[in-house]
Amino acid sequence: MSSPEPIVRFVGIGKTYDGVARIVDNLDLDIMRGEFLTLLGPSGSGKTTTLMLLAGFETPTAGEILLEGKPLSRVPPYQRNIGMVFQNYALFPHMTIAENIGFPLSVRGVPAAEIAKRVERALDMVQLGGFGKRRPGQLSGGQQQRIAVARALVFEPKLILMDEPLGALDKQLREQMQLEIRRLHQRLGVTMAYVTHDQAEALTMSDRIAVFHRGRIEQLDTPERMYEYPTNAFVARFIGENNRLDGHLETAANGRCAIRVAATDTLIDGTLVETVGIGDAVSVSLRPERVQIRAAGHTIDAQPGCRLAGSLREIIYLGDHVRARVALTGNEEFMVKRPISEAHTLPHIGAAVEVFWTPEHCRAFAQEH
Ligand code: ADP
Ligand code: MG
Repeated sequence: MSSPEPIVRFVGIGKTYDGVARIVDNLDLDIMRGEFLTLLGPSGSGKTTTLMLLAGFETPTAGEILLEGKPLSRVPPYQRNIGMVFQNYALFPHMTIAENIGFPLSVRGVPAAEIAKRVERALDMVQLGGFGKRRPGQLSGGQQQRIAVARALVFEPKLILMDEPLGALDKQLREQMQLEIRRLHQRLGVTMAYVTHDQAEALTMSDRIAVFHRGRIEQLDTPERMYEYPTNAFVARFIGENNRLDGHLETAANGRCAIRVAATDTLIDGTLVETVGIGDAVSVSLRPERVQIRAAGHTIDAQPGCRLAGSLREIIYLGDHVRARVALTGNEEFMVKRPISEAHTLPHIGAAVEVFWTPEHCRAFAQEH
């Protein structure tokens, strides 16, 4: 197999509208050929702007974008050969579905007979063969979005950009479309740059995820690494569920550290993920599923420095797992998530308990500011 090569390179890309606020801030990003890359981040973090710069609807104020090694700065949008799908799928209401899908081809001067053939194929790809003669208004939201996907595929671009394409759909349809787009990507081998603010969607669909925050990438990683090994407090908080404890760094050596937890005034051991000075403020993140719970005095298997005392406040059954809500000494809220097979081993509500973990799952970061 050939080693992966970038199809797109953002090199020192900056974008400001007013000369002050850096909407995209010195961005370096390689999109690898054939991958499904998701830009994930809160609203206003610069995801759409980044796609618009790549599509050519906005111009960078610094840096250069390369597509297949060639600078894009002088290539107008329609010559970039990039397919696009947006949240408001914006089909032309007065045109038939076939005319909508054929539009990118007719503006490129493709002959009518060829258009008909390729429209048919694109409709089949999104499992809407036979819908060509209808109008957008006669289709459901999900079907219209599939048509928008077909329209982006029809001129066989090497690169497709999607900006929150499923945002307007209800949960069930959204999850179905996520898998459909993922399968389409695998079948066609096209490169996908996908924007969402939904971390579950990003984890489900992507080969890699770039977490955006204030116009910068906080972390670029596979879904699994992003979830298990966040490299800073922002990513830890943004992806998945977390127990967060604030405190100060007391000692650090060889990646391990001891943190004095402010609320409980106890020392706990963790893995130091970022460079932080002794005495500096840190926040610790512990995934609920990486924590165990026992009645107080029964945590014989826990390492010292990897447990905290509290009282069990609530047990919530969720069919496939059970959640235990604990109030730590000092009144800090703590959530524990266990498989349903352990439900019968949980202490009773009101019991004095200890929560415990192993140090590699206790990750210490510099506090967000
Ligand atoms: P996201 O897609 O992550 O929600 P955007 O890229 O749309 O973020 O926007 C990032 C920031 O840029 C926002 O604060 C937004 O208000 C600002 N912004 C976007 N477009 C313009 C524009 N045309 N003029 C001025 N500010 C803009
Ligand atoms: Mg956006």
